[in-house]
Amino acid sequence: MITIVGAGPTGLALACGLRRFEVDVRVVDAASGPATTSRAMGVQPRGAEVLARLGALGDLAEKAVRLRKMRVNGEVALDMSALREAGQLVVSQARVEDRLRDRLSALGVEVEWDTPAETVADADWLIGCDGAHSWVRKHAGIAFEGSQVMENFLLRDVRAAWDLDRESIHIFADGPSMTTVFPLPGGVWRVMSPDGGRWTPGPVEEVEWESTFRIHRRQAVTYRRGTVFLAGDAAHIHSPVGGQGMNTGLGDAENLAWKLALVVHGRADERLLDTYEAERRPIGARVLASTTPATRLVLGPGLVTRTIRDRVMWPLLNIRPVQRRLVRSASQLGVRYSGPLAAGRRGGQRVPAFAGRPVGARGAGDVPGGGTGAAGGRRAP
Ligand SMILES: Cc1cc2nc3c(=O)[nH]c(=O)nc-3n(C[C@H](O)[C@H](O)[C@H](O)COP(=O)(O)OP(=O)(O)OC[C@H]3O[C@@H](n4cnc5c(N)ncnc54)[C@H](O)[C@@H]3O)c2cc1C
Repeated sequence: MITIVGAGPTGLALACGLRRFEVDVRVVDAASGPATTSRAMGVQPRGAEVLARLGALGDLAEKAVRLRKMRVNGEVALDMSALREAGQLVVSQARVEDRLRDRLSALGVEVEWDTPAETVADADWLIGCDGAHSWVRKHAGIAFEGSQVMENFLLRDVRAAWDLDRESIHIFADGPSMTTVFPLPGGVWRVMSPDGGRWTPGPVEEVEWESTFRIHRRQAVTYRRGTVFLAGDAAHIHSPVGGQGMNTGLGDAENLAWKLALVVHGRADERLLDTYEAERRPIGARVLASTTPATRLVLGPGLVTRTIRDRVMWPLLNIRPVQRRLVRSASQLGVRYSGPLAAGRRGGQRVPAFAGRPVGARGAGDVPGGGTGAAGGRRAP
């Protein structure tokens, strides 16, 4: 029996991945029931592939808002509509968790709410998917190294009749003031701004949800201690700029699931489990390394940073190869592994022939099951 602590996107995806291989699994969560607030709002194309392989994509692709452009002070700064890899599904984390819970239920497992980690500490296999303040991580004595990047970052989901197109991210930058507005499904807008900025493009009818938090950049020094593993925010936290957090957790979950399944079924040596950290920790480190400077550049309060942003960064975004690079990086479709399993000519690479076209890509449909999403050539059964 494998015990997963945390029924967020990472824990739920891991549980679905293990049940696909008929592994007995428990999912416990200290909360009294599912979270209803939106939190993360972007499923990247690679994350959508993972959900599709787990059978948990459901209607998310149809319900989501598709982003085509990024506008800065009303002008198009980045047009993604012709880029094959563009296709972030803008949909709330709560909806993603709904689909994963539905799928897990169909696979025979219900989340055990009101069950804190302490009550399952002696499990044979304990997987900490219990978020940034992970009890499992602390219990295993694993350090979470890093620092604070920014204070007081404000998020609000609001209802408002603003005259903004709903296919664009809207950035409003005026001196030290900076606000980003995203369209969410159901006519809702997500407003994000640093330093408690309260600017909006017009009157707000209703605030659905509001949260202020500090952005940290931290990573667990190891993802495994014996039979204890960490995944998702328990293993890495960073800025929400770029929408990578939930997707990185989904990738961790898929990678760990098939390896644990092979080991608990006695079909692989336990050393296979070391490849989880070897493959996924560098991916997490790269996300931390890219989101921190991006956050400082986009939101940084200093005059020099603002000048670079306004005079260099925005114009650069109009250049096609720069657009392609940015969008590919955010999509996570380029994620590849260089760990010990990545032998051979295309070892460790995503295999589009199996994975199908990106779910969010223009004209793409659903993804057929069976993509690796893991080390190429070493597919799970
Ligand atoms: C306010 C806010 C806004 C965000 N916005 C974005 C965004 O715009 N884009 C983006 O990519 N990411 C965003 N994130 C980050 C994103 O939400 C996380 O990356 C994602 O939730 C990670 O999923 P997870 O399953 O690893 O952890 P979580 O979603 O944190 O889930 C952890 C689960 O563990 C449970 N738990 C915690 N402690 C215990 C315990 N001791 N015992 C049992 N259960 C426990 C919790 O109840 C929870 O259900 C945001 C996060 C927050 C908080």
